[in-house]
Amino acid sequence: MVPSGLADPAFAYAISKADFCPIPRGRSFVSKEEGTELSDVWNGFVDEYIAQGSDERPRVEIERAAKINTHCGALFRVCEGPSCGKLEGRDVERLSLCSKCKIAVYCSRTCQAASWKEHKEQCSSGSRVEQMLPSQAAIQEHVFPALWKDALNLTHHVLSKAPEK
Ligand SMILES: [Zn+2]
Ligand SMILES: [Zn+2]
Repeated sequence: MVPSGLADPAFAYAISKADFCPIPRGRSFVSKEEGTELSDVWNGFVDEYIAQGSDERPRVEIERAAKINTHCGALFRVCEGPSCGKLEGRDVERLSLCSKCKIAVYCSRTCQAASWKEHKEQCSSGSRVEQMLPSQAAIQEHVFPALWKDALNLTHHVLSKAPEK
């Protein structure tokens, strides 16, 4: 389903085991219970992948690449300050949430202030979704448009086969 190279191997492993592909769609998309269940199942597969020991990266990096939170976004998020890149669970214990949208995350007030100009619009629009894993962003960008195109082509195909009057 996912072209090779697009998703992290740990993420791809979990997709092959799970019967869903988690993509954050906003906070109201899944209930807290469903989200907890989904993330438990998914992260269990990631642990299974790590336990196999075939991936030599440090555990924290694999978890960063593949584990999801209860909103189907990244479990370990990266500071959204411009060119900061501090990783939760590795560089900082916990990132702080933007107090307004409660979705954007920062390691410090400096990073928050530096990104405010860019974040301002999204912050108030309410359209923001949970920070994605790199694999999710890649899938969203490359796979979903293709599926959409397939669906459109199929529609055109069906329409062109419609009997003429
Ligand atoms: Zn930062
Ligand atoms: Zn915000």
